[in-house]
Amino acid sequence: MIHPRSVADTVDAEATVDLLQDLVRIRSPYFEEAEITEFVYDWLDDRDLDPDYHHVSEPDITGFEGDNVVARLVGDDPDAPTLLLNAHVDTVKIVEAWDEDPCSGRIEDGKLYGQGACDMKGGLAAIMVAFEALADVDLAGDVLFTAVVDEEGPYGLGADALVRDGYTDDCDAAVVTEPGPILCQSDVENPALVLGARGRFLYDVEVTGRAAHGSQPEKGVNAVVDAGRVAEALDELEVDSHPQLGDGSVCPLFVEGGGQTLSVPESARLMADRHVVPGETKAVVREQAEAAIESLDLDSEVDVDFREAPADDVYYGPYVTDPDHPLVGALDGATREVAGVAPEVGYFSSVGDFNYFGDRADLPTVIVGPDGENIHSAGEFVYTDDVVEVARIVTAGAASYLG
Ligand SMILES: [Zn+2]
Repeated sequence: MIHPRSVADTVDAEATVDLLQDLVRIRSPYFEEAEITEFVYDWLDDRDLDPDYHHVSEPDITGFEGDNVVARLVGDDPDAPTLLLNAHVDTVKIVEAWDEDPCSGRIEDGKLYGQGACDMKGGLAAIMVAFEALADVDLAGDVLFTAVVDEEGPYGLGADALVRDGYTDDCDAAVVTEPGPILCQSDVENPALVLGARGRFLYDVEVTGRAAHGSQPEKGVNAVVDAGRVAEALDELEVDSHPQLGDGSVCPLFVEGGGQTLSVPESARLMADRHVVPGETKAVVREQAEAAIESLDLDSEVDVDFREAPADDVYYGPYVTDPDHPLVGALDGATREVAGVAPEVGYFSSVGDFNYFGDRADLPTVIVGPDGENIHSAGEFVYTDDVVEVARIVTAGAASYLG
């Protein structure tokens, strides 16, 4: 057995980058994760790390059936904390603008290229090698490894299923290795600990006017025109602010309606993205939108609702992790040990599976992830040194936190 203080050194840089390359070479856009899921399972199984499949099923809206991969290291002390390690295995849909194979895993100047290289196969490789390293350490607490499907899809179904099926119930804190600095609210550079994230709702607004002949628009109520006014009102909504997470925000996403020539459109629909800070609950953001629309005094009827979801608790709530939590202290110490500097601290501007852990499962949640560029687009790459550093920080931080 290795003493936890030197455990970070057992993470082999070359093996970590080789693993990352293997992961990037497996095409895995959301809803098409069977091959990469099996790869992660087999990789753990080959090392006697005792993986399990956790089935994920959402028959109503997406029809998705797939599997997360989970594995657990059991510590010596049942009273010691349990740490969740989480990464997602899927990527966005492969972007068409790549001028090379989007699954090449090509390495040049310390950058590894491929769709999902940074978001988040770098982080996935990091928790895989960290979990392998931690298996050789005497730990008091447990480590729960989770590689989940469908983070990039509409509802984060893999992480949703983890929470719904009770996997997070006995966890005390979570580490998610999403690319951190690139999506932070402020300029933050690695090594960094990301201690919170805004949440998000999606307004789904129906506008109902009254049809009339298009040559006599004054006899109807034009739903498309009113939907445009609603979009403008939402765009100008007064939002709350938070000392760490910054301001809430609104982004109208689309307006659709009408379409017949010579008819005043009688219905239209718009959706708007609403990023929120703590205090901006579903009820609050509904009231904000309704009040803004009410003040327009439109002739159309307007119904404010939210995007359809598989269940009422499937939304991304905001969270902030206490900087004095022992996990943050452990990761801070690990960063100083591995990188030789104190970590910067940041807050995430958008949402992901970490919101389910930080808000819904109420776990102190820290994002520690490798940096790169062009995530969700062509030319995505991750810095390989960052991936190795994150693997070492997670390994040393987990060993310290779990005693
Ligand atoms: Zn991601």
